[in-house]
Amino acid sequence: MAVPKRKTSPSRAGMRRSHQALRGEAHAECGNCGELKRPHHVCSHCGYYDGREIAAAGKPLKGVVRA
Ligand SMILES: [Zn+2]
Repeated sequence: MAVPKRKTSPSRAGMRRSHQALRGEAHAECGNCGELKRPHHVCSHCGYYDGREIAAAGKPLKGVVRA
């Protein structure tokens, strides 16, 4: 089995992990109710998308078919 020749220094480990930071979740204001929502998703507060009501407010979006 291949074995690393040297111990990874804290500096090296830090350099490797410099790309692992989590980024903030994208958000945008709903055009209908002003609540923060995920971009390109139906608003989970009012159920609107692209100016139309797609799902009943507060209801889960599972099984909703595009009209
Ligand atoms: Zn909304």
